[in-house]
Amino acid sequence: MTACEPISTDVLLPVYGKRPLHIDRGEGAYVIDREGRRYLDFLTGIGVNALGHSHPAIVRAIQEQAALCVHTSNVHAHHYQEPLAARLTAWSGMDHAFFCNSGTEAVEAALKAARARANASGRRRHRIVALRNSFHGRTAGALSVTGQAKYQAPFLPLPPDVHFVTPNDVEDLERSVNEETIAIIAETIQGEGGVVPLSAAFLGAIRRLATQWDALWIADETQCGLGRTGARFAYQWEGLLPDVVVTAKPLGGGLPLGAALFRDKAGAAIGYGMHGTTFGGGPLACRAALAFLDEAERLLPSVRKMGALLHTRVEELAARHARVREIRGRGLFAGIELDGPGEGAVQAALERGLIINCAQGNVLRLLPPYIVTEEQIERACAILDQVLRG
Ligand code: PLP
Repeated sequence: MTACEPISTDVLLPVYGKRPLHIDRGEGAYVIDREGRRYLDFLTGIGVNALGHSHPAIVRAIQEQAALCVHTSNVHAHHYQEPLAARLTAWSGMDHAFFCNSGTEAVEAALKAARARANASGRRRHRIVALRNSFHGRTAGALSVTGQAKYQAPFLPLPPDVHFVTPNDVEDLERSVNEETIAIIAETIQGEGGVVPLSAAFLGAIRRLATQWDALWIADETQCGLGRTGARFAYQWEGLLPDVVVTAKPLGGGLPLGAALFRDKAGAAIGYGMHGTTFGGGPLACRAALAFLDEAERLLPSVRKMGALLHTRVEELAARHARVREIRGRGLFAGIELDGPGEGAVQAALERGLIINCAQGNVLRLLPPYIVTEEQIERACAILDQVLRG
């Protein structure tokens, strides 16, 4: 078998339903399949390829570092981990970084820090407040705070003492956060839950209640952070500061890299030898991440401008098509809620050369790259117009 032949699905654990698109390579906002067809990529590997494909700055960083040193483990230092930690703490307003390989691992680090902090205080309290409809990852801790039965049910029992509240219901939150609470975890914009932004009032209530009860506000910005909304992190639109920030997806420029970022008080109970990882924060991924952050910073004004255009155009689609119930999201993160299943629309868009996906069965999710142009947004929305007519 050559490297380009498809692998028989018999050899894979059947956890994914693969679409009929076999990607050969990517160029900017496009991917090219093995027959040479080009597709406009408005999913970007679920928010990972935020600079598009084969961005020269990422290619250069990876090529140069691959020739020097790919892995050191965390037993030894390298040139890129501390500069990346400094950059991310400056971006987020946090004080310390812990690097890992994925969003779910960053969530685990955040939850473990909250437990360690509560245990170190000597008070017996355990409650974590999380949101219904949330998604925080597939490992046991992250799954325990993921408020969707379809992900949890086959794997029960999960770590206990998690209490779920309804997103944007301030009274429910106020009823649920109390002296038992050690952390409140929330995506600033729920992604898998159907692109549901938390309101300013709800985020403000999280901050207020976390402070009042000495709990940690863990902002999961895996999908909405690192420039996706046009701010460095989405919570910054409200002028608020969490205690822990979780980030991953685009951070490594396409390489697996996640980070949990802590304010002093949030990370204080984690000490030498208490947590760790073999791969997390290696030189290859950290160097690529520094290149990504340089470009993302430069592109923020464009993300805001293109994000505004995208939202204008999808609002126009909503006005034209009765099937569209609501438009949600911010910047280059948009959800189009339909009044019925969205899978047919995803398939029809793919046949017309546009890659998107569907969350919660009826929300078309758009995550175009930060390098997207006006013409590409017009083209994508013209395809969506045809698809919604059909
Ligand atoms: N948190 C959020 C908000 C996510 O959207 C995801 C993945 O989609 C995760 C955590 C888990 O990230 P990963 O798949 O890298 O483990």
